Amino acid sequence: MTAGYNSDGRFAGGLRSGQQYMDALKNDGRRVFLDGEEVSDVTSHPAFCEAVRSVADLFDIAHDAANRDVMTYTSPATGEPVNVIWRMPKTTEELSIWRGAVEKWSESNFGLIGRGPDHVAGFFSGWASAPEIFDDRSGRDFAGNIVRFYEFLRDNDVYITYTIVPPQIDRSKPAHGQSPPDLYAGVTEERDDGIIIQGAQMLGTGAALSDYVNLSTISPMQKGDDNYAINLAVACNAPGVRIHSRRSYAAAASSVYDYPLASRYDETDALVVFDNVFVPWEQVFVYKNMEICRRQWWETPAHIMGNNQAHIRFTTKLRFMMGVAHRIAEMNGVLANPAVQAHIAEIAAMASLYEGLLEAQFATATTNSGGYMEPGYQAHYAAEALQSEIYPKMLNLMRELCGGGVIQLPSSAADFANPEIRKDLERYVQSPGYPAEERVKLMKLAWDLIGSEFAGRHDQYEKFYAGPPFITRRRLFQHYNFEKSGALVDAALAGYDLAGRLPRTR
Ligand SMILES: Cc1cc2nc3c(=O)[nH]c(=O)nc-3n(C[C@H](O)[C@H](O)[C@H](O)COP(=O)(O)OP(=O)(O)OC[C@H]3O[C@@H](n4cnc5c(N)ncnc54)[C@H](O)[C@@H]3O)c2cc1C
Repeated sequence: MTAGYNSDGRFAGGLRSGQQYMDALKNDGRRVFLDGEEVSDVTSHPAFCEAVRSVADLFDIAHDAANRDVMTYTSPATGEPVNVIWRMPKTTEELSIWRGAVEKWSESNFGLIGRGPDHVAGFFSGWASAPEIFDDRSGRDFAGNIVRFYEFLRDNDVYITYTIVPPQIDRSKPAHGQSPPDLYAGVTEERDDGIIIQGAQMLGTGAALSDYVNLSTISPMQKGDDNYAINLAVACNAPGVRIHSRRSYAAAASSVYDYPLASRYDETDALVVFDNVFVPWEQVFVYKNMEICRRQWWETPAHIMGNNQAHIRFTTKLRFMMGVAHRIAEMNGVLANPAVQAHIAEIAAMASLYEGLLEAQFATATTNSGGYMEPGYQAHYAAEALQSEIYPKMLNLMRELCGGGVIQLPSSAADFANPEIRKDLERYVQSPGYPAEERVKLMKLAWDLIGSEFAGRHDQYEKFYAGPPFITRRRLFQHYNFEKSGALVDAALAGYDLAGRLPRTR
């Protein structure tokens, strides 16, 4: 099941160029809603077109023959080059290539696109590497389905995002206790050829830009929640799928110069509604099985691979933030000041801490029982647990460094077109080596990174994309090597008793 698996004919098979990705998206019938209206074509609408372009750039990087060695490998099914984001690594070298590809992509958008095609690719390759987890002994071949669908995604270069958290309606009640019970996305009907899904799920980052959306649940479930214990894939243009986008920061941006990040990297987030959506059995991987729904996250490499991509991306972003901070201090003529150097070093410490945790994930990678390499769990979940603390600290330190410079800026790029205003800007809004246009450009970039509405959304994203902080911290609790630290405590306690110091036993 490779090229042509999907009867809508959007995929011809093989690596896609950015243009092919955009062509498939253009007027494909998806239903996206924004500002009270339906968006007919996301590839040309001002709220989405630049983000589409940024995702297209990712496809172009992978499609570029010059990047073949770093961005692709040979599909075992078709013999054609496919994106390396789909390879579940088996050797240290393959893991390193995978890391390099993700890093290359993240550098093209400065770590600002969190849910490009490489995020959920990590989940699917992790799932497909352990298909036995999906065998529910029902007679339906869910283990085969996950492998075949993964191959379809890989061999057709499909962009898939996911919604795996129920909407915040009433968290005091389980999924089936919501009123009415079909608020959270779940199964309402079973047919010979597939199932019907009704309800909503959050928070579909990139759903308006992607080809498919993966629907599952990572939140703990309770007895009676079987209808919501699913994992499946739906084409974003499938009948009944409605994508309700949040406010667009790209559309609100007055120009690229004024909002250089929001205008180009607003990957969008959305409430995804599944209204009587038919899903064929071959796109269903977990069906009404709470145990398998839980195990798929924690007994396959899916969670660690998908989120390792996130850590690579985040490390790029912190490095970028460090660069912006350093450049601003240099521009403001304060770089030689020891207090400023200490301030910048504090930002550098955060970026380095995260870089170190990323290195540690690769240095402690191990081969799992299926023969696949997985990044080290302790360093991975430590990074995840710290992210919600590090990022706001970075933002705060950068704000302190920027002072009023990010506010005392011309209202928009249009001010430069007015000779009278321009004269004042050139005289008063400049620094040595930085004429007005350059100074304003850097400061507006900084503001879009740390203070604009786009920046605020990023703060929220980094806190929550892997789950709320109280959950991400608990994951480290499950993976920290307490045995090793406990052994030290035992050794310390064994060295003395009520009578005092004991003789050494070694
Ligand atoms: C910008 C952004 C993009 C996202 N993109 C995606 C996406 O693409 N796909 C996707 O599936 N999800 C996505 N998410 C959703 C994300 O997975 C959820 O936001 C996350 O899992 C947290 O769930 P929640 O927002 O419902 O918060 P809740 O679980 O409701 O928690 C919110 C806060 O309530 C308190 N709280 C709630 N319950 C408890 C408890 N039991 N104990 C202690 N404190 C508690 C805590 O203070 C917690 O931080 C995104 C989120 C954001 C912000």
